[in-house]
Amino acid sequence: MSLPPLVEPAAELTTDEVRRYSRHLIIPDVGMTGQKRLKNAKVLVIGAGGLGSPALLYLAAAGVGTLGIAEFDEVDESNLQRQVIHGQSDIGRPKALSARDSIAEINPLVEVVVHDERLDNDNVMRIFEGYDLIVDGTDNFATRYMVNDAAYFLGIPYVWGSIYRFDGQASVFAPKQVEDAPCYRCLYPEPPPPGMVPSCAEGGVLGVLCASIGSIQVNEAIKLLTGAGEPAVGKLVIYDALELEWRKLKVRKDPNCRLCGEHADVTELIDYDAFCGAISEEAADAAAGSTISVTQLEHMLKEREEGSRDFVLVDVREPNEYEINQIPGSVLIPKGEFLNGNALEQLPPVDSGTQVVMHCKSGVRSAETLAIVQGAGYDDAVHVGGGVVAWVNQIDPSQPAY
Ligand SMILES: [Zn+2]
Repeated sequence: MSLPPLVEPAAELTTDEVRRYSRHLIIPDVGMTGQKRLKNAKVLVIGAGGLGSPALLYLAAAGVGTLGIAEFDEVDESNLQRQVIHGQSDIGRPKALSARDSIAEINPLVEVVVHDERLDNDNVMRIFEGYDLIVDGTDNFATRYMVNDAAYFLGIPYVWGSIYRFDGQASVFAPKQVEDAPCYRCLYPEPPPPGMVPSCAEGGVLGVLCASIGSIQVNEAIKLLTGAGEPAVGKLVIYDALELEWRKLKVRKDPNCRLCGEHADVTELIDYDAFCGAISEEAADAAAGSTISVTQLEHMLKEREEGSRDFVLVDVREPNEYEINQIPGSVLIPKGEFLNGNALEQLPPVDSGTQVVMHCKSGVRSAETLAIVQGAGYDDAVHVGGGVVAWVNQIDPSQPAY
């Protein structure tokens, strides 16, 4: 189904603009009027990361008049594998400013509005207000649900995308624009259980996948702004990079949706961290009172070397992560081995008195495995808060971070 354009055309294009956008102007479905609509458009991109990078670059090149960037993070070396809007000399700079500079280089006619703050319940409505369209490049579930709800309350349509390893998804949510169109909650009523779906930082992402999905998001944004074609409202686009396969599934509005359904009970922003749960209840319970710091661990490792203490240090990450960096003296037993029960055979017997100490990258996965191990009778088992990331930052900066 085609939709009316989201934006009224600007009064005119300058001679410079006509030259710059000539390859758009000669496409009948865009033309002079479509380009004038892009010029008048205000688009907010959430995140200048994996998806936000290609999205911002192409929206800017396309001539979207006003581009907002909502991003609070700084450029890290590990971002450069996929976040192509940033460069080597931007490492350590705020991503929002780095992205603004790249946009100015690509298209100085774009007005960039920087929102250099973390989106939260207190600022999200203020930041969203006034934009015609949102492109969501968020990488976590709490923000994703917040974006969906805030956009719904304000009646702003948005283009969603997500990426993981070789898999990408995208859709357009416009429940206020199109009758019976679903929102993100209709597609995913509940966030996945904490710890079930790793983030890109935990699970990895193929760099070029960001370009595939980010460019689909821009494609849909341009269609929405200009009224060209049929945007993916009520459609879930699924991309499998390994099979090189695109699929498009129908997504229906859920009449029982808590946000856009007939008996909706989400009528204002909620506590999204609690809704999505940073870690499961079991893991939080296990970690309470059973979390040690990397400084404590360093001390314990010294004592173990001297023979005054006995414990086993278990790294529950994946083998390819273990190849990148390690806490010396750790043994690798990936989290999956704890979930399928095989790990327990590899631990010292419960009655041996040998303490079990666990760590992962950041402390989320090890909190989950801690709950399993404590449940199996290892009452004095602990995990390392902050994991190997904290170890590298605070104890051993000579090792690479990831
Ligand atoms: Zn809904």
